[in-house]
Amino acid sequence: MKELRTPLALTILGSTGSIGVNTLDVVRRNPDRYRILALTAKSNVNLLAEQATQFNARFAVIGDETLAGELAKALADRKCGARVLAGAEGLEEAAALPEARIVMAAIVGAAGLLPTLLAARAGKKILLANKESLVIAGRLFTQAARDGGAIVLPVDSEHNAIFQALPASFESGLESIGVERIILTASGGPFLDLPVSQLRDMTPGQACKHPNWEMGRKISVDSATLMNKGLEVIEAHWFFNAAPEQLEVLIHPQSIVHSMVAYRDGSVLAQLGMPDMRTPIAYALGWPDRIEAGVERLNLATMTELSFREPDLQRFPCLGLAFAAMREGESAPVTLNAANEIAVQAFLDQRIRFDQIAGLVGETLERAQRQAIHTVQDVLEHDAMARRLATGIMQAMS
Ligand code: NAD
Ligand code: MG
Repeated sequence: MKELRTPLALTILGSTGSIGVNTLDVVRRNPDRYRILALTAKSNVNLLAEQATQFNARFAVIGDETLAGELAKALADRKCGARVLAGAEGLEEAAALPEARIVMAAIVGAAGLLPTLLAARAGKKILLANKESLVIAGRLFTQAARDGGAIVLPVDSEHNAIFQALPASFESGLESIGVERIILTASGGPFLDLPVSQLRDMTPGQACKHPNWEMGRKISVDSATLMNKGLEVIEAHWFFNAAPEQLEVLIHPQSIVHSMVAYRDGSVLAQLGMPDMRTPIAYALGWPDRIEAGVERLNLATMTELSFREPDLQRFPCLGLAFAAMREGESAPVTLNAANEIAVQAFLDQRIRFDQIAGLVGETLERAQRQAIHTVQDVLEHDAMARRLATGIMQAMS
């Protein structure tokens, strides 16, 4: 007999993005488990209205408040009864709706911090895709989740793999459960084997053409510079309470082994799967159950090669910058992330070359003031300062 259950109310912050769309795909496959409460987007009115209609959302939230009228009309045209919220306040209200049981945090960049923090304080089950929240406010976010009684589950495929390879008791400390190292795998992106001298000519289109994953433009560029792995190392530092020396990166071009945990007795546990974000999304959504994700099954017999090698820090200076920022702590990761967001946008707008991204981030880190981080306000102020500094350096470069 089929089990009767009440579908859990789910809010998706960033529903029109790559993670958001994949999350809705998993929800569509599990209609008895989840119902959509609120969907949010920055400016894509049409897709948001379409999603709200299809999933019968109660709230549709647009970050750019000048588009609220347009959204109301798009919903009315589709006879969708979702209530419109808008602007930063609308996003914050949506992040902590009392009815929500689960919040998918899938806004890109530091813009995701405040709504994700509010969901943590409100004690939701948070599916964390927005790695930048942990990178720039790791301690504050972890504390907010603890105070609010939130459960945080990692959506980033590497962290999801590590989570699956750890015992449930990892929060008592990696030492006490015999973990020696955490090994994050990286595909190496589209320019892994390109002669370094050619990096300067790479266009945004080429940088966004990832060999294995389909993702938003910002994270695609981050994958090409390996800054994405750098941000993920900092994310893992906070998520798993891992010391910098316990975190390692290996290039694995096939993106089948999503990360590994090495134990004291010589065991290495890995999680494998096709490179499809619906697997980690479904794992986090369903946890502790396993649910259908619509993902192609892994067939190792047809795979000729699974290879691993150390990353080349000359080719990928961003990875070294991220390790250094993690070791330094306090405001350094905030500066790193802010400078990177400015650099990636400038590259996408064709104002700087691909090989200038690392230079811009490095110079911003060199010149930025250091600041102790005690509050969210400290993070936001430092983030704004680092953006101004990086923008000035970028203008001098371009
Ligand atoms: P995306 O650019 O495809 O989508 C971003 C979403 O956030 C969109 O819905 C957009 O409307 C919204 N958004 C952007 N700026 C906003 C703002 N200022 N205010 C409100 N909403 C805003 O990005 P993505 O690739 O889906 O990535 C989302 C997050 O997930 C990122 O933090 C990324 O690092 C992480 N992540 C993504 C993948 C992936 O496969 N795409 C994998 C791992 C982690
Ligand atoms: Mg990842």
